[in-house]
Amino acid sequence: MATQPQTKSFKVGKFAVSTIRDGKVVGEKPHETFGTNQKPEDVAAALEANMLAADKFIDSFAPVLIDTGSEVILFDTGFGEGGRVNGNGQLIAGLQSLGYEPGQVTAVVLTHMHGDHINGLMEGGKPAFEKARYFAGQVEYDFWKDPARAGTPAENGHKGVLKNIVPLVEKMTFIKEGSEVVPGIVAHEAFGHSPGHLIFRLESEGKGLFITGDTANHYVLSLQHPDWEVRFDADKAAAAATRRKVFDMIATEKLPFVGYHMPYPAVGYAEKSGNGYRFVPETYQFEL
Ligand SMILES: [Zn+2]
Repeated sequence: MATQPQTKSFKVGKFAVSTIRDGKVVGEKPHETFGTNQKPEDVAAALEANMLAADKFIDSFAPVLIDTGSEVILFDTGFGEGGRVNGNGQLIAGLQSLGYEPGQVTAVVLTHMHGDHINGLMEGGKPAFEKARYFAGQVEYDFWKDPARAGTPAENGHKGVLKNIVPLVEKMTFIKEGSEVVPGIVAHEAFGHSPGHLIFRLESEGKGLFITGDTANHYVLSLQHPDWEVRFDADKAAAAATRRKVFDMIATEKLPFVGYHMPYPAVGYAEKSGNGYRFVPETYQFEL
């Protein structure tokens, strides 16, 4: 069943920002993904206290498009063609519904190299965004491309990078803490979810926005309980420390953020609450 592309557009200073829903997946047994070091009943109780089902969860996927006026920059690429059998891989349809063709994308930026973020780079064995240059983390690339990943749990990720990243490497700029993608968009290291995971800070005309990628992947279980271990986090302790550092900063600065797996449209704020943070979805903030 195909999902109709959903998009949400707003302005941050002079940047036109759109989130595009690549799709969603229904997961079972939330405690086997979020809070793997907790009692299942405690995970269920946290979900029910937030009016969510205790036995299933939604994982949603939201690449971000930023039109700076001179560049059209895409952050992460969704599942691509391989996801369409399940109704995912809607990024390009979403782009087109916003009035862009893939050939207009001037840069593709990757937060990290998991399949739900990089599989949309190639389409029919060719680059999906044929005019784009690319930005990705040096640490992330060095980890996944290493042949030593063969025969380990990271083998599938290694193969995904060989298929989707290596063919583009000539057009790729490898970045690190403090690297500027374009004026007003700066990378910051937020390691843990993956070995070289990056977040991005946007600033334009006094307005700001963070793109937090997969720093937190469930708006209740990972924000209210940042220390709960997550199956997808490569280094569980580093991921938890990074969640606290990043969302402390976002809460303190009262800046909006886009989180790839936050409830679509994936834009909101974080406020300090209890031992963690409460996700505050955007409402009217971008309409004024
Ligand atoms: Zn992800």
